[in-house]
Amino acid sequence: MKPPRFEYVAPTSLEEALALRAEHGHDGAVLAGGQSLMPLLNLRMAHPAVVIDLGRVPGLAGIREWDGGIAIGAMTRQREAERSDLVGARTPLLAQALRLVGHSAIRNRGTVGGSLAHADGAAELPAVALALGAELVARSARGERTIAADDFFLGFLTTALEPDELLVEVRFPRPRPHAAIHEFARRHGDFAIVAAAVAVDLDGDVIREPRIVIGGVDEVPLRVEAAERVLDGAAPGGEAFAEAGRAAADAVEPSSDVHGSAEYRKELTDVLVRRALAEAIHTDRRGGDGA
Ligand code: FAD
Repeated sequence: MKPPRFEYVAPTSLEEALALRAEHGHDGAVLAGGQSLMPLLNLRMAHPAVVIDLGRVPGLAGIREWDGGIAIGAMTRQREAERSDLVGARTPLLAQALRLVGHSAIRNRGTVGGSLAHADGAAELPAVALALGAELVARSARGERTIAADDFFLGFLTTALEPDELLVEVRFPRPRPHAAIHEFARRHGDFAIVAAAVAVDLDGDVIREPRIVIGGVDEVPLRVEAAERVLDGAAPGGEAFAEAGRAAADAVEPSSDVHGSAEYRKELTDVLVRRALAEAIHTDRRGGDGA
């Protein structure tokens, strides 16, 4: 199908882009890598009057050290982040997850910020942002604010971004070397039917600050606090992982669709949480991506 008619604008500065965002509000759509927006337009699931292309706005792409962690500009291509040594060293979970996003041709165009702003409940990067406790930086002509990933994903393709705001950066606060993502998809490159992203700290032989996130079971990626409670203070091992897997499966309420029944998704949740925990605990990715 062809997209509906829209006006195309290509600002060449952030100020110009923010002014266009403020002017068009809900009638404007932002074009980043186009890997989700163009299908939405072609399927006529989106009808913006104006498409604001960020492709010529300088300063929105790049990866830098930030407060012991890293900051990634919203327009950074997924492929660049995937190949970045800094990402591999500081947020190896992100590097691991990026390799699961579609195919390399999609990652060559798709941006880190675009995936987060699109907020698909089955997408890997929103799940990783939650698992790593990321902060998302939003800018508008009114100023800048930081939104915790826990508060960013609100519902089906809906985020906490206001219609006049742009996502300009995502910040990952500190390295979490014990982290992993496991997912099940029908074919390599497909969206996950279910994905489990986990990050934990190890204090001697005790698990601390676990974050367990499930994708593909709801409109947004879900943190499963029931599973986190099971793990916090537990000794790592098959027993704790099995209990956490069961707690996660009990906590999610997926629906059935052509890709799998609700029961199947619950079963996958259990298995994938256990696998991701086992990999996270036994892998120390400090200083390299190790994958
Ligand atoms: P766009 O498509 O340009 O924009 C997406 C949405 O975000 C739009 O609503 C846009 O207005 C908004 N937006 C973009 N940037 C900003 C910003 N800076 N500020 C505010 N709003 C913004 N993704 C996965 O996670 N996993 C997969 O397995 C996967 N498989 C795919 C397979 C195919 C065949 C295709 C075509 C895509 C797939 N994707 C997958 C989606 C892909 O990762 C997209 O790149 C990503 O979802 C959107 O990034 P984008 O840069 O292309 O954003």
